[in-house]
Amino acid sequence: MARNKLDTNDPHILHLAKLVSGPNAILYKQEDLLAYDCDGFTIERHLPRAVVFPNNTEEVAKIVKFCSENKLPFLARGAGTGLSGGAVPLNNEIIISLVRMKRLLEVDFENRRAVVEPGYVNLKLTNSIADKGYYYAPDPSSQYACTIGGNVAENAGGAHCLKYGVTTNHILGLEVVLPNGDVMEISPNGIADFPGYDLLGLLTGSEGTLGIVTKITVRILKNPEAKQTVLAYFDRVQDGSQAVSNIISAGIVPAALEMMDKVAIEGVEAAAFPVGHPKDIAAVLLIEVDGIAAGIDEQIQLILDVCKKSHVREVKVAEDEAERARWWANRKTGFGAMGAISPDYLVQDGVIPRSKLPEVLERIHKISEESGLRIANIFHAGDGNLHPLVLFDSRVPGDTEKAIRAGSACLKACADAGGSITGEHGVGIEKKEEMRFVFNDDEIKAQTDIRDVFNPDRLLNAGKLFPTPSRCAEMKQELKRPEHAK
Ligand SMILES: Cc1cc2nc3c(=O)[nH]c(=O)nc-3n(C[C@H](O)[C@H](O)[C@H](O)COP(=O)(O)OP(=O)(O)OC[C@H]3O[C@@H](n4cnc5c(N)ncnc54)[C@H](O)[C@@H]3O)c2cc1C
Repeated sequence: MARNKLDTNDPHILHLAKLVSGPNAILYKQEDLLAYDCDGFTIERHLPRAVVFPNNTEEVAKIVKFCSENKLPFLARGAGTGLSGGAVPLNNEIIISLVRMKRLLEVDFENRRAVVEPGYVNLKLTNSIADKGYYYAPDPSSQYACTIGGNVAENAGGAHCLKYGVTTNHILGLEVVLPNGDVMEISPNGIADFPGYDLLGLLTGSEGTLGIVTKITVRILKNPEAKQTVLAYFDRVQDGSQAVSNIISAGIVPAALEMMDKVAIEGVEAAAFPVGHPKDIAAVLLIEVDGIAAGIDEQIQLILDVCKKSHVREVKVAEDEAERARWWANRKTGFGAMGAISPDYLVQDGVIPRSKLPEVLERIHKISEESGLRIANIFHAGDGNLHPLVLFDSRVPGDTEKAIRAGSACLKACADAGGSITGEHGVGIEKKEEMRFVFNDDEIKAQTDIRDVFNPDRLLNAGKLFPTPSRCAEMKQELKRPEHAK
């Protein structure tokens, strides 16, 4: 297809345009770039230099090689749903958008795997294989929009990751364009258990700082024979939290075990998918079990008994698939639902040992009182992955800063409880200083050393994931970097 005529004399833009085929394959005008100044972390915005839309690995490799040779900062972008600012062009980067690489390349039911391009949307994979009785397990709530390339970069999780594991547990092979433009295949036959270092594990969750993923082999699973879903309402958050621990200690591994508190319930009931949760309730649990049909009823009975012993106010089992789907829509659209009760919200993401749920939720409550900002909690309770949503109004002077401080305090509470500062949304630019809550200087240096093996010029997604250097040695290293890459 013909290329569009470009209205610029910028030699870099003109050259990049020649490396990609098809119409509108590069954006460079300010009005077009505005849509790329942030991702789901809307607090920090910067314009990119340009956005290029390659169609295949070869084009990605050529773009990267050109950027590398000309010392132009660049980064990869999927759907831009990331919540920690990973795809924000801090350094006026060339954004390499993978949205045109969106093909399902192969499905191998016999070996239970599929090969996709990075721009393939997560939910499309399940939808494409559902008629054969298969699905792709990692199910971030953004799965209708986010790409599998972005999921790999963030090691995305989801409601059903309690039983089935996060993205890294489902990746069997990757093709990656390295920051110098070379193409590397990791486990090309989809046999993940190769000797040597676990490069699949290293690349998965590296937040787009080690290379650009251009092909992904994933594990696909057979649909469970049966599933059942329970909704349980509690008058006290502590009772809901205790029920979570009690369900797991009873020996049940639910497929999903989700919790929402009172502020979150107010939001989801005011938004597009209300299900009639009581307004005065302190916490709701959404619990799902799946597996072979034979044992499901016993597991459900056990869950009902545990809830009753944990002072549940009301507990019910979904009557049919339609009711189950309504409950899940209500939960999965929970973040966006906060827009119904607040002009702005900051999504946080910390992990804690499950047993610390009551204590940490109490601390988050205190942070809310001290900051004067409401905090809703919608989270994967079963694996201790908290999502405090700090509600604020960016039009009120000082509110944004207050929200950032409150979010950071929530992460400190998680770290102090023996947990971590991210469960699934990554560090990006948002939490890079908070990395110091969980790593000392030596531990951070060990990681930046690894990054520098792959990305020695730090042209790829610079300024993400790691805190500003604090030690002399690190500072000197940083000073050696080209000006535009800082
Ligand atoms: C409403 C909502 C709900 C969400 N729920 C969840 C949830 O339940 N679980 C969860 O884990 N996350 C969740 N997220 C966060 C987000 O959807 C995930 O982090 C997702 O994996 C990002 O995918 P993306 O395609 O949008 O990537 P982007 O936002 O475009 O990019 C994210 C990062 O990945 C890098 N990247 C993108 N593509 C590539 C590639 N091909 N190669 C190398 N690096 C790349 C980017 O440089 C950036 O650093 C949610 C977000 C929203 C808005």
